Amino acid sequence: APTVGVLALQGDVREHLAALRRLGCEPRAVRRPEELAAVEALVVPGGESTTMVRLARTFGLLEPLRERIRGGMPTLGTCAGMVLLADRLLDAAPGQETLGGLDVTVRRNAFGRQVASFEDEVELTGVAGPVPAVFIRAPWVEDAGPGVEVLGRVARGPAAGRIVAVRQGPLMATSFHPEVGGDDRVHELFRDLVSATAREGRNR
Ligand code: GLN
Repeated sequence: APTVGVLALQGDVREHLAALRRLGCEPRAVRRPEELAAVEALVVPGGESTTMVRLARTFGLLEPLRERIRGGMPTLGTCAGMVLLADRLLDAAPGQETLGGLDVTVRRNAFGRQVASFEDEVELTGVAGPVPAVFIRAPWVEDAGPGVEVLGRVARGPAAGRIVAVRQGPLMATSFHPEVGGDDRVHELFRDLVSATAREGRNR
């Protein structure tokens, strides 16, 4: 079973650990560089992206995280995690840094303050049938580079067509919170990406 970490500095860590456990992964909370070094893949959860970056720096994790991501560690970013994986931000806090890795421009709090939180269903490439999607002060992908596969878009309403799920190589990100919808299929997609990445590594 793959050892999959959940960045546990802040945010909804427990629900991700539980989803990964249900899928037969070995989940580990990651707070220290030694813990990061011991995992094969990582989930960067939702929460507050500015706080998470600040804590990552305090815990000496910022550069190790960037190095692992550059080195091809499969990583799933959800909500604030999507913000952290973005190479470029819109509506960032002053001086806000990211980990980067995904060739996308992400807009923070993109859905606006009036509709800060809502639930919808999203069709995702690689998943049969719609997935419940809980959006909480969520970002969206404003713009994606040519190497980025769009996995899902908002189906209806004023934000219809906006990109809310992407993949680029071993990196995946969703605007919504797949850990709270009672549906493990986004984590399953990620688990399969972790396995596929490991197989590729062995065959190289
Ligand atoms: N708005 C938050 C941020 O930009 C993300 C919200 C969330 O993860 N639920 O960091």
